[in-house]
Amino acid sequence: MNNNAELTLAQQVVAHLSYLLNTQQTPEVCPELSSIGEFEKLATTILTLREVLQKLSVGELEHSIKIRGYSAGCLKALQSHLRHLMWQVEQVANGDFTQRVDFLGEFSASFNSMVVQLDTVLSELRQKKETLSKLTDRLQREVELRKKAMDALAQSEAKYRHLAEYDPLTNCMNRRSFLVNAIDILNGATLHETPCCIAIMDIDHFKRLNDTYGHAVGDEVLKHVTTIGKQQLRDSDMIARFGGEEFLFLFYGTSLENGKHAAGRINKAIAETPYRDPNTELDIVCTVSIGVCLIPPYCSEPKNEDFIQRAVNIADTAMYTAKKTGRNKVVTAEEYALCREGCFAESDCFAGKMPVKFE
Ligand code: GH3
Ligand code: MG
Ligand code: MG
Repeated sequence: MNNNAELTLAQQVVAHLSYLLNTQQTPEVCPELSSIGEFEKLATTILTLREVLQKLSVGELEHSIKIRGYSAGCLKALQSHLRHLMWQVEQVANGDFTQRVDFLGEFSASFNSMVVQLDTVLSELRQKKETLSKLTDRLQREVELRKKAMDALAQSEAKYRHLAEYDPLTNCMNRRSFLVNAIDILNGATLHETPCCIAIMDIDHFKRLNDTYGHAVGDEVLKHVTTIGKQQLRDSDMIARFGGEEFLFLFYGTSLENGKHAAGRINKAIAETPYRDPNTELDIVCTVSIGVCLIPPYCSEPKNEDFIQRAVNIADTAMYTAKKTGRNKVVTAEEYALCREGCFAESDCFAGKMPVKFE
């Protein structure tokens, strides 16, 4: 082979190998080169290396490298490092922040610093979560305590309101509460031009009853009389303890005649239902006297405290008449007005004296 021929062959080798290294194609080996056994081995090695590099470049790490030599060794080492790195990343993902890399130069430093950073941030987050959860617990306990306190406050408020508005012995409204409610109800009744009656009831000879059976039995009789009285009322009516052995009633939407009937029912029921003393098994009969006063539907006067006091006074005067004329009966203010002129007049509603006071 002359020099020129050698040159051409060398150029063909270079061209072939450069083609292999710089393109994706695999050129045909020309007959001049195929006869050189070593060339073919070299071309195959380069081709294999090219394939391995291509797989590595797209992250395929499972490709088995079957060739030997220094370059192949380096690629195997890189492949195995990358595989190990992948495993380490998985460990980190599972919470193992002890993982460190020392085989990938600058990348190792970046990776290790990232893991340390991640560890720090995560433990800070964990601490914050713990603090937050403790705070939430404390807040929940605080909310529960406050709720309990509010409930207790509401209960005690309700208890004190009840104590302020109700009579502790008979558990019916006291006179102040009666007054407040009556003002509302009677003003409503005026708007609807509805008649109402106010009645006052006094137990007959209650002092004698106390003296005969004792004060404790007297208390039980007061409760008994309240129960019987309540049983005779409609939902729209009201009962209150005015004081001592005296009670007030408001009969809503009731003419004087109907007010007299309502009071008569109460009077009759009390007289016919004796109190059975559980200690002595004695039946204690007691009677009541009731005075009734009409609040006429055409009475446009404002229904304030003064008005109600006057109505109660009229009813009280009627009740007093009942006492004086034999007890155990109902007397209406009209009847009273007939015998005590000027106490009840349609024009000014009530113009009588005021023997009974609310305060
Ligand atoms: P009258 O028929 O004229 O009304 O005679 P009375 O004895 O009922 O009237 P009086 O006003 O003389 O006596 C009322 C009695 O009521 C005197 C008082 O001790 C008694 N009393 C007042 N409040 C209570 C109470 O809460 N419990 C008891 N047991 N007695 C009471
Ligand atoms: Mg009395
Ligand atoms: Mg009495």
